[in-house]
Amino acid sequence: MKRRQFIRFGAVVGALGLVKPSKATNIMAQSFEGKTNGPLVLSTWNHGLAANEGAWAVLQKGGTALDAVEKGVMVTEADLTNRSVGVGGRPDREGHVTLDACIMSGDARCGSVAFLEGIAHPVSVARAVMEKTQHVMLVGAGAKKFALDYGFQQAKMPIDEVKKDYEQWRKENKDLFKKPEINHENHDTIGMIAMDANGQLAGACTTSGWAYKMHGRVGDSPIIGAGLFVDQEVGAATATGLGEAIIRIAGSHTVVELMRHGFSPQEACKEACMRIIRKHNDLSGLQCGFLAIDKDGNYGAYSIYAGFNFAKHDAQKNELIDAPFDRNW
Ligand code: ASP
Repeated sequence: MKRRQFIRFGAVVGALGLVKPSKATNIMAQSFEGKTNGPLVLSTWNHGLAANEGAWAVLQKGGTALDAVEKGVMVTEADLTNRSVGVGGRPDREGHVTLDACIMSGDARCGSVAFLEGIAHPVSVARAVMEKTQHVMLVGAGAKKFALDYGFQQAKMPIDEVKKDYEQWRKENKDLFKKPEINHENHDTIGMIAMDANGQLAGACTTSGWAYKMHGRVGDSPIIGAGLFVDQEVGAATATGLGEAIIRIAGSHTVVELMRHGFSPQEACKEACMRIIRKHNDLSGLQCGFLAIDKDGNYGAYSIYAGFNFAKHDAQKNELIDAPFDRNW
């Protein structure tokens, strides 16, 4: 991984009117950027290390980025110790584990499922929506019926240990409208973006969402343009953190569009974070993080608060990297 100082570009940014000049200079405050030649996979949080291995197994055999991201995030979905993705995920406040996922390739093909219960690999259902239907997104009972008709197996959720935690939580939290606590325990999507040996881009995003959320709540992760966006002409981005805030700025689409207008991946991730900061009066606990890669293999990340990390796998190694951030908790 190469790190380098950003080239000052505040004047260009100001001229484009994308951010106020004072914010543009903030972009210089921390620097992190990398570039890889050849296949590359990036994914959110430390569970990304194992997921990257799954993706790399595909990429190193010359497989496609699309296959790689699906196989990669399936590792996390199958990890019963993971409390924020897949089968081991925490339920909503009614005790239902509802899963959100999407997948997208650089040619704008995409598929998504939301509010899906009882299916172990929502990302693969999302891919089937993309490849086998005329639609982009299926939700709830319709998504479940499609998955079962298509041959996906049911899985029991929540798993026993998670159910016990939930029952305890329920006893202590009677107020149905109470804002669920935000911390690293109760939300951590896996968002993965990859480039294959042919330079093709793809991404996938999957989560059980904000633990103890309201029944029916859907976050950013299955929403194309919010939790994930990929455009072969420009690059790919994915998001993690408080989904409501990410949806409000169409976060991943914003990152890709900023790259289209000349921002580097990290600069684009940072500007998306700054936009969230500008749009919200109450930033307490409002963690959001973005990861991006451009079509030339440059990559970057940024988060609002300290603590966001991501896993990067290239031909050299699979490593965990702390993302730069705007503020400490
Ligand atoms: N973005 C996810 C959601 O809001 C959760 C997370 O990434 O932490 O459902």
